[in-house]
Amino acid sequence: MSNMLKGIAASSGVAVAKAYLLVQPDLSFETKTVENTDNEEARLDAALAASTSELQIIKDKAVASLGEEAASVFDAHMMVLADPEMTGQIKETIRAKKENAEPALKEVTDMFISIFEGMEDNAYMQERAADIRDVTKRVMANLLGVKLPSPALIDEEVIIVAEDLTPSDTAQLDKKFVKAFVTNIGGRTSHSAIMARTLEIPAVLGTNNITELVNEGQLLAVNGITGDVIIEPSPEEQAEFHKAGEAYAAQKAEWAALKDAETVTADGRHFELAANIGTPKDVEGVNENGGEAVGLYRTEFLYMDSQDFPTEDDQYEAYKAVLEGMNGKPVVVRTMDIGGDKTLPYFDLPEEMNPFLGWRALRISLSTSGDAMFRTQLRALLRASVHGRLRIMFPMVALVNEFRAAKKIYEEEKAKLIAEGVAVADNIEVGIMIEIPAAAMLADQFAKEVDFMSIGTNDLIQYSMAADRMNEQVSYLYQPYNPSILRLVNNVVKAAHAEGKWAGMCGEMAGDQTAVPLLMGIGLDEFSMSATSILQTRSLMKRLDSKKMEELSNKALTECATMEEVVALVEEYTK
Ligand code: PEP
Ligand code: MG
Repeated sequence: MSNMLKGIAASSGVAVAKAYLLVQPDLSFETKTVENTDNEEARLDAALAASTSELQIIKDKAVASLGEEAASVFDAHMMVLADPEMTGQIKETIRAKKENAEPALKEVTDMFISIFEGMEDNAYMQERAADIRDVTKRVMANLLGVKLPSPALIDEEVIIVAEDLTPSDTAQLDKKFVKAFVTNIGGRTSHSAIMARTLEIPAVLGTNNITELVNEGQLLAVNGITGDVIIEPSPEEQAEFHKAGEAYAAQKAEWAALKDAETVTADGRHFELAANIGTPKDVEGVNENGGEAVGLYRTEFLYMDSQDFPTEDDQYEAYKAVLEGMNGKPVVVRTMDIGGDKTLPYFDLPEEMNPFLGWRALRISLSTSGDAMFRTQLRALLRASVHGRLRIMFPMVALVNEFRAAKKIYEEEKAKLIAEGVAVADNIEVGIMIEIPAAAMLADQFAKEVDFMSIGTNDLIQYSMAADRMNEQVSYLYQPYNPSILRLVNNVVKAAHAEGKWAGMCGEMAGDQTAVPLLMGIGLDEFSMSATSILQTRSLMKRLDSKKMEELSNKALTECATMEEVVALVEEYTK
């Protein structure tokens, strides 16, 4: 009897492979009296050697994917293992207490950790404590003969099973081996889901308890289009999943023919299809998928992949690479949006009751402690502006005064650079994200001052519905087609047009095939989505009539009470 479960379909594609559990193993141990302490010292040496070679492999992979600097943390870990002071004390403890290696390892490392952590105002020592904690786990796992999950060490095709994946876990996944992932929590707009779509790794999230149901190495079948997961599928079920995978591949091949085609509706109206990216490397995917622009570059990943604040020059290089990679096509760069589900190891974000409602994004940039970071980013952007067509966008704007304050800082840095003789483009557009309902309601006033507005529906929906975007328990409230959301979107688009400005959307709704006809009718100018959704959307737009879509959206805006009614209407109009 096979075991079937359903989660949230978060990234398209189908896979059948063995499960790889990315869960913390049980590292508890028994304390035993031993006669032969030499034996325990030898066990310790073997565990240290195994840990060192594992770390070396992880480091080599990290150097290849993230660069030498980002990988230097593993050198620090290997130095801990090679520290004779610490290993000497562990061995002494084994001999003195005549006990096995496990309690000795714990006792000595705990002591070092508490000494370093005690030096509260010394960030370097705090980091050493964290290094020792991390490395000890690996040595303990080797002593106990249990496996510590290390995605970087995966060298065969697997499906990752985890409670949750952080954006940085996701960034480390190697597409060659990781065929899909399935998690207990998370939704379509959590950042791990968004990254999975960029990487084209099928994903099913929010299954509640997959980690309890699956054992390491068990066969799994995952369909990221339907959200179906089968544990130990029968040969017939495997064949069914393979067939679904082939159908999806064939569909993709059909869409691929539209790579260089124009995005025009059946009646000849053009819409701009742009892509959301997280790193300069993603530009390749944008061009491969026929993207007409970058509608959202989430620059916080530049900060998250780094051991410290990225310098002005580092940022300049990244922005220049994206602008040049897009060959003069527009690039919307969003200033840093840290907070919510995105944290920085080196920046002390306070513990908050509600991080998504807290100190994040522009709120940090406009604070005293964020000012220098914000100015550095703006300078890097201004310097890069001569390499392409730059649009700068501020995230999480609630107040017109916040936009004014950010624009003022932008103008100050621009004036300073020009005074220093640095070339700055004269066609930079400065706009905002509309992701807070207050800003959506006041869009007419914002429209007078900004160059453009891009609707961030991932947050706009969570704030409008008061439903956490990461929480699968309330994911039924995540309703992009609800008439209330459509009215907010419509308000923004009409307000922008009344002032002769353009309106885009960079939330996941922009690539949602049920939402697209409605948004075309509303008159959204730019649709920014995962690059992998562009060709499918172009194909959809090509067969629709823009006038008919206007009729559809007008009906949805004025006559519908529920999401279900809107969906039925879309089906009727797009048949
Ligand atoms: C959004 O909120 O819709 C958005 C695009 O930004 P992010 O998903 O990074 O919060
Ligand atoms: Mg957002």
